[in-house]
Amino acid sequence: MNRSTAPKNPATFHVKSFGCQMNVYDGERMAEMLGARGMTAAADGADADLVILNTCHIREKAAEKVYSDIGRLQRDDGARPMIAVAGCVAQAEGSEISRRAKTVDIVVGPQAYHRLPELIAKAGRGEAAVDTDMPAASKFDALPGRTKQARPTAFLTIMEGCDKFCTYCVVPYTRGAEISRGWTAILDEAKALVDGGVREITLLGQNVNAWKGQDDKGRVQGMDGLVRALATIDGLERIRYTTSHPNDMSDGLIAAHGEVEKLMPFLHLPVQAGNDRILKAMNRSHDVGSYLRLIDRVRAARPDIAISGDFIVGFPGETDAQFEDTLGLVEQVRYAQCYSFKYSPRPGTPAATMDGQISPAVMDDRLARLQALLNAQQAAFNAATVGRATRILLERKGRHPGQLIGKTPWLQSVHVQAADFTIGDLVDVDIMGAGPNSLAGAISRRKAA
Ligand code: SAM
Ligand code: SF4
Repeated sequence: MNRSTAPKNPATFHVKSFGCQMNVYDGERMAEMLGARGMTAAADGADADLVILNTCHIREKAAEKVYSDIGRLQRDDGARPMIAVAGCVAQAEGSEISRRAKTVDIVVGPQAYHRLPELIAKAGRGEAAVDTDMPAASKFDALPGRTKQARPTAFLTIMEGCDKFCTYCVVPYTRGAEISRGWTAILDEAKALVDGGVREITLLGQNVNAWKGQDDKGRVQGMDGLVRALATIDGLERIRYTTSHPNDMSDGLIAAHGEVEKLMPFLHLPVQAGNDRILKAMNRSHDVGSYLRLIDRVRAARPDIAISGDFIVGFPGETDAQFEDTLGLVEQVRYAQCYSFKYSPRPGTPAATMDGQISPAVMDDRLARLQALLNAQQAAFNAATVGRATRILLERKGRHPGQLIGKTPWLQSVHVQAADFTIGDLVDVDIMGAGPNSLAGAISRRKAA
């Protein structure tokens, strides 16, 4: 490794996270841990002694991005920061990364980042610093407590890993087996976040609704029990969770959507495709019928719930007719917002070597058609809120003086002139207009729904 120009004892750091919200959460925890050890956060990589690239391996493009980013960290005078590659690319590629990119000093997997301080010291001494262990003890126990947050919203990882092995997906290999964090640790972290000014918490997990554990009285609980316990925390106003798996959507959690006021009416429930043969080849363990029945039950419990999802187009063997079935499912569900991707073969997954890989041109065409439909549904969902009174949580400043941006219960951004209010306030607004990606609101004197 070429370490000659990298600082040996970094005093400042910058974490750049790619990919999912769980990476954002991990990045925040790394920053808090290094801050607790006396290091200072730098606003961007150009000024930092240590740059941590917290990577994503879910699709090929995301994984390759890390190598171009490493190249850009070389500075004009020949100096460079100490470079750490963290996250799922680190887990999947291990020491291969430092062979391919000689300037990488540290490689640390998503279950081992609590050991970053030791790895930084090792790299400073010029030793190889690679840790992709999946230790039996949870990294969470080794991390310092949460510090005061800059925003009124926060992520909180409650489970990690995945046992489902969808045939296209790297997560079970990069994040390991499904592990739920303990009840008390989660509630303590939530209380610490609220004490630090947080008013909305989004619970995170690769399949967050698979969370299970025991409460402080030893009773077995699922995520619905956890949500109900979190809802008793004074000062915590809103609870969200993502991402859910259809097979882990329990009766109790569905009921909670109708009963727990603080649980927001938004459900991200990926289906991936609308054809049973493709779902079977994906090893999704749900079919179109069971998914649609589930959506009906959720809507019966909470009629105004916004439904979101993920789709993959061009899975190996997908025919035109099977793709049309996906469009048909979308028409039936009427989504509020969705993510959609072209299938990306991932090394080591069963689908990567399946017959019938689809050409890029066909995938482009299918993605464009699916996204046109999803965008139209999102615009229709937004338009349907115009004229409505609702409550938003103000999260950040807008571009214009006195303008703030908040979120509705259905996760839509609302721009509002709110000079008398401050970030973190929950305010009643009337929705005056809707665009494809956001709404315009005005402070309301009516009581919000
Ligand atoms: N656990 C969640 C579930 O089962 O719905 C999804 C978590 S996964 C990290 C996020 C999304 O990435 C998936 O829902 C899927 O749409 C997409 N994804 C995963 N592997 C992919 C691949 N090989 N190619 C394209 N998209 C992929
Ligand atoms: Fe990946 Fe499937 Fe697990 Fe979701 S359920 S993380 S898509 S393997």
